[in-house]
Amino acid sequence: MAVQRRILIIGGVAAGPSAASKAARTNPDARVVLFEQSDAISYGVCEIPYFLAGEVRKDDLMIQTAETMAREKGVEVRLLQRVESILPTRRAIKVRDLSGGRVYEEQYDRLVIATGARPRRLGLAGEDARNVFTIRSFDAALALRSYIDGERPQKAVIIGGGYIGLEIAEALQIRGADVTILEQRESILHDLDEPARNYAQDLLRTHGVKTVSQAVVVALPVDATNRVTHVLTSHGTYPADLVIVAAGIIPETTLASAARIRLGRTGGILTDHRQQTSIEGVFAAGDCCEYRDLITKRPVFAPLATNANRSGWVAGQNAAGGRATFPGVLRSLAVRLFEGQIARIGLTEREAREAGFHCVTETIVSSSRVPFMPGSAPLSVTLTAEQETGRLLGAAFWGTEGAVLRSHAFAVALQHSLTLEQLQKIDFAYAPSFSPLWDPLLIAANALEKKRSTGTRR
Ligand SMILES: Cc1cc2nc3c(=O)[nH]c(=O)nc-3n(C[C@H](O)[C@H](O)[C@H](O)COP(=O)(O)OP(=O)(O)OC[C@H]3O[C@@H](n4cnc5c(N)ncnc54)[C@H](O)[C@@H]3O)c2cc1C
Repeated sequence: MAVQRRILIIGGVAAGPSAASKAARTNPDARVVLFEQSDAISYGVCEIPYFLAGEVRKDDLMIQTAETMAREKGVEVRLLQRVESILPTRRAIKVRDLSGGRVYEEQYDRLVIATGARPRRLGLAGEDARNVFTIRSFDAALALRSYIDGERPQKAVIIGGGYIGLEIAEALQIRGADVTILEQRESILHDLDEPARNYAQDLLRTHGVKTVSQAVVVALPVDATNRVTHVLTSHGTYPADLVIVAAGIIPETTLASAARIRLGRTGGILTDHRQQTSIEGVFAAGDCCEYRDLITKRPVFAPLATNANRSGWVAGQNAAGGRATFPGVLRSLAVRLFEGQIARIGLTEREAREAGFHCVTETIVSSSRVPFMPGSAPLSVTLTAEQETGRLLGAAFWGTEGAVLRSHAFAVALQHSLTLEQLQKIDFAYAPSFSPLWDPLLIAANALEKKRSTGTRR
């Protein structure tokens, strides 16, 4: 008979449920128990902007419940249970039952930490006022949605011009608010190639969303009813009846550090390629971890649902006795912004240079289909490759159709270290309704290879 294993999982959104399901499937004799401090698990965080906009219903966000996890996956879920410490020498965790206050210990043979990340705070008085929100959890989404429905805010200020700030900006604009995004850096979407960034900026402008760059928030004055009335920045004052803080996140490593589990250079939990931490038998996955960037080979904090689910899967399989590996990440990201879509895969030109690559970059504008076919729309690609070898380093795709799905083909090429020359020879399918004869990705590869081989540098 197989050895009964007790596998405990801390955290219940993306990495935790993925690890739990995989562990139970890998070793059906194991007892898998997932602890979550809130009262919900396995919900669609990435869909929250669309819930706020009114495009999807609350129930649509729920992927699994404690009951379906038990029935369909064989995982015991304990809600409203906060893990307060990990006791590696005793192979145990200490848990507080938030519904009754009882504190108890649970033994483990294997442990998976999937505690995620928490919003970065600004450290300003007024941050906890009743019209200031962060968006990270189901509860936070419900609170914000109820505020929008009840108060109908007219002036919304979003602090942070990353992709989440932009998605929320769109949602609030759809709900009728006048939206301003404040970004402390020189531009929004800092992690995108400049032409793609300009596209996003144009889309926001067209839809009446204002952006202010190099605006550092210095104060959030509140009135007698504990509401922020305006946002004071190094750049001016912005009246607000709703403030969203989307200023980044920090890996939630409190438990891990207290248990002397090693953290990496980025602040996330350090793991090996099997997602095992510095303590044998303790695994970690998701936003609480740092990953390895597949292109630079350096550690990177890449808090994305894709990475959380994939690393959770690996952690769960290994916790159950399997031998899975997690190769690393390309930081592949897609964003919908009004009618536009933007994707980035791998490094931007700036990131490639900062990582020490001698690179070439080219941007082309093509079309999503044969240009005169109904529905055809402009589609742009920025491609970056190594000057000497032609090895692909990264790309961005944008337009109103076909951008994100095309980026998938590029991700395959990048993950397998193809060169421009190899990419040029790929046999993509063609029909006038779906692409031009030369797909925009191939057009970009041809243009960049020409530039690279003639030694032209930007
Ligand atoms: C608005 C928004 C949109 C997004 N859109 C996308 C997208 O389009 N594509 C994409 O790839 N990614 C997207 N993301 C990122 C993605 O949602 C996260 O990467 C993902 O949720 C990370 O999952 P996780 O399980 O690692 O961590 P989390 O989602 O942070 O979950 C961790 C869980 O652990 C629990 N926990 C923590 N400590 C304890 C403890 N001590 N005891 C018990 N429980 C504990 C927390 O309560 C939490 O429920 C988006 C994020 C946001 C906020």
